[in-house]
Amino acid sequence: AEAALRRAQKLEAVGQLTGGVAHDFNNLLTVIIGALDLIQRNPGDSARAERMIEAALSAARRGERLTQQLLAFSRRQALRPEFVRIDELLAESEPLLRRAVGEAVSFVVEPAAPGAAAHVDPSQFEAAIMNLVVNARDATPAGGTIRLESVRCAIRQGELEDVAGGDYVCVLVHDTGQGMDADTVGRVFEPFFTTKEPGRGTGLGLSQVYGFARQSGGGVMIDSAPGRGTTVRIYLPLAQADVAAPDAAAALEAPARS
Ligand code: ADP
Repeated sequence: AEAALRRAQKLEAVGQLTGGVAHDFNNLLTVIIGALDLIQRNPGDSARAERMIEAALSAARRGERLTQQLLAFSRRQALRPEFVRIDELLAESEPLLRRAVGEAVSFVVEPAAPGAAAHVDPSQFEAAIMNLVVNARDATPAGGTIRLESVRCAIRQGELEDVAGGDYVCVLVHDTGQGMDADTVGRVFEPFFTTKEPGRGTGLGLSQVYGFARQSGGGVMIDSAPGRGTTVRIYLPLAQADVAAPDAAAALEAPARS
C-alpha cells in the first residue's frame, strides 16, 4: 500500500511538473514569437530589432535550460568521467554563468585550487554549477553578490574544512540572498521540491547537483540561514595526475626530438 501511495504521489508530481513546464514553454514561445513578429513588421528599425533579438534569445535560453534539466532527470544520464582541471573549467564556464546572473547582482569568480583536478563528467559538472548559480541569482536581490570559488578541502570528523593540502576539491557558490530555514534546507534535494512560482522552478536543480556529486564520489554541503544568504559546496575527491593523465603518458611515450 505504501509503494502504491508513493507511486501515486510521484505521478501527481509528474503531472504537476508537466503542467508547469508546458505552461512555462508556452510563455517562452509567446515571447519569442512576439519578438520575431515585431522584427518582421518593422524592417529597418534596427534599434528595436536589437532589443527584440535580445528578448527572444533570453527566452530561448531559458527554454533550453528547462529541457536540459528534464532530460538529465528522465535519462539519469550515465556519467562520462574525465580528468577535469577544476580552475580551467570554472574559467571556461564563466561567460555563460555571468550571462545567466545578469546585471543586477555582482558575480565574482575566484578559482583558488591551482592544478586540482577531479574525475567527473564535465558537462554534468557545468550543469551543476549552473544550477547553483541560477538558484543564487533567484534568491539574491539587486545589489547583492554571488561568488563562485574553488578551494582544496578535507573531511575531518565529518566536517568539511578548507585545507591547502586536503584530498578533496570544493567548488562553492555563495550568495548574499534570502537564505533558507532549516526545514527548507532539509528538503532541497528532493526531486520536484521547489518554493518558486509555478512555471519558474522545476525542483530538479539541486537533485541534479546531489546526484552528480554522489556519483562522482563526493557530496554536497549547504550552509544557509534566513536573511544571511547561502553557501552550497560541492566536494569531489582529487584525481591524481599520475593515475589519469593520458597527456602526460603520451608525452613520455613520444619519441624524443633531437
Ligand atoms: P528549483 O530551482 O527549480 O526550485 P532546486 O532543486 O534547484 O529547484 O531548488 C529547490 C529549492 O531550494 C528552491 O526552490 C529554493 O527554495 C531553495 N534554494 C536553492 N538554492 C537556494 C539559494 N541559493 N538560496 C535560497 N534558497 C535556495
